[in-house]
Amino acid sequence: MKILVASALILVGSCSTLRHSEKIDNLKDSISYDDETMVNQYLNTIKTDELRAHVEEVSSDKYNGRMTGEEGHNQVCDYIRSYYKSQSIKAPESHPDYYQKVPKEVLPDDLNESQNIIAYIEGSEFPNEYLYISAHSDHEGIIDGEIYNGADDNGSGTAAVLEMAEAFSKAVKDGYRPRRSIVFLHVTAEEVGLHGSRYYTENPIFPLETTISTLNIDMIGRIDERHKDNENYVYVIGSDRMSTELHFIAQKANDTFTYLELDYTFNEENDVNRYYYRSDHYNFALKGVPVIFFFNGEHEDYTKPTDTADKINYPLLAKRTKLIFATAWYLANSDERLNPEII
Ligand SMILES: [Zn+2]
Repeated sequence: MKILVASALILVGSCSTLRHSEKIDNLKDSISYDDETMVNQYLNTIKTDELRAHVEEVSSDKYNGRMTGEEGHNQVCDYIRSYYKSQSIKAPESHPDYYQKVPKEVLPDDLNESQNIIAYIEGSEFPNEYLYISAHSDHEGIIDGEIYNGADDNGSGTAAVLEMAEAFSKAVKDGYRPRRSIVFLHVTAEEVGLHGSRYYTENPIFPLETTISTLNIDMIGRIDERHKDNENYVYVIGSDRMSTELHFIAQKANDTFTYLELDYTFNEENDVNRYYYRSDHYNFALKGVPVIFFFNGEHEDYTKPTDTADKINYPLLAKRTKLIFATAWYLANSDERLNPEII
């Protein structure tokens, strides 16, 4: 009798395991691009020299390290906003100057008011469903007389968002508007405590209830010590925590277009670095939005005045940007909206 019970339990156990793996297989099989050639066409508009130009501009000495609330940061915000205007990418109707003011009262003591920047491309079929692509625009300013340029942190992410916006806008001009709306969000005050993204998620311009996902970028232009001998990687953090489908969409994008090693080391629940909690995507996750954080890990110039534009690996920055673009393309154009469930 005992033996019988034991074998029955084993049978139940293995059945449910099988069902789970079948579900995963079915999910993976359901993810496919309708037209890979078209995606490739717009992926190829993401150019190394254009990324370089954005990183060099954003991280140049004239902006004095882009401290939240200071003139240099305000000037960088104006550069970012001007780029959207030049590409005819719209501002939200409620914020026609692309800026959401982040008041002094919600920022740490001595900082002046600042702003998040929001531009968007309206979806053709599901305009009320939103995909966010985000990066913080601020950095650490001047410390002990030295300018902290923040080329990787986060000139790289800023440049990536601008290049993706340009690629999506080219597709629109060719008649291939995304089916869902895409919001390009440059948040302020990340370095001083994720304040810009917290303010945005508490005062969203586009509703978070119908937001399908946020893809956040913070440092994707360098290589960390662990990958000195294999630079073809990016850390992917958080992708499986709120939506199993999101995790496999990023994998599909990579398997189809970019062939990077997706490193999930820092996605471990018990990772001591706690990166999942340390950039702006986390404020979206707190509101129930499935997120992915793309990151290159720390390196010898991280949070130092030596994080300069000449040290960025631009071909690698382009490749990582293409991975995020291909992931975004799928999310914005899939027949069914992303399933926010863990399988
Ligand atoms: Zn950063």
